[in-house]
Amino acid sequence: MGTRAPVVDHGPRTGAKVALTFDADMTDGMLASLRAGRVKSYANLRILDLLERDEVAATFFLTGKWVQRYPDVTRRIAGNPRFELANHTYGHAAFTGDCYDLPSQPVGELAGDVAKTFEVIEPYGGRQTRYFRFPGLCHDAATLDALAPLGVTVVDGDVVSGDPFATAWKPLVRAVLDHVRPGSVVIMHVTEANAAMTDEALPHILAGLRERGLVPAPLSEVLAGA
Ligand SMILES: [Zn+2]
Repeated sequence: MGTRAPVVDHGPRTGAKVALTFDADMTDGMLASLRAGRVKSYANLRILDLLERDEVAATFFLTGKWVQRYPDVTRRIAGNPRFELANHTYGHAAFTGDCYDLPSQPVGELAGDVAKTFEVIEPYGGRQTRYFRFPGLCHDAATLDALAPLGVTVVDGDVVSGDPFATAWKPLVRAVLDHVRPGSVVIMHVTEANAAMTDEALPHILAGLRERGLVPAPLSEVLAGA
């Protein structure tokens, strides 16, 4: 029996901390849309503005291709002492075969893909982590075995905002506030064109967390129950 990368959904249900996590997806298809001018941006700077203005902690799961397309935004994320950086594959592929309509890669390429993504992210410094999130949260035994040598913790999450391709912000607020508890890991996206309502929902989510006495904290602190 080999070892297997651990998977976590949330931290201890004690205290008041919750993790706001933002995925930064980027596929070749998305890059093509940017080049063709069909899409203006997959980097939602209003989210960063809001988090910075309110001094809110957050964790960003970055794809390598997103970092390479948005080096200045990555620098801004890495330069914020309240933000943690984590890994979301190089090109947002699925390694399990069927996973929504994501591009698919063989599981044999997973460890190299994730290692390469760390190599892209790590030069930016800041609060680097060994957290990894699968695109579409699609994983199985073979993918977790493949990741074991990398020493990563796989982070899914227990609160799905449902922000991809959302057309209204209120359902996102409700989805988060109805399910969030101490130790929760909330999944959102910083991809703007593919998650266009997230910045509108965010101030309401932050206000709702405050009302519930919940405090956004870096993912490492939430998982440690610190
Ligand atoms: Zn993703």
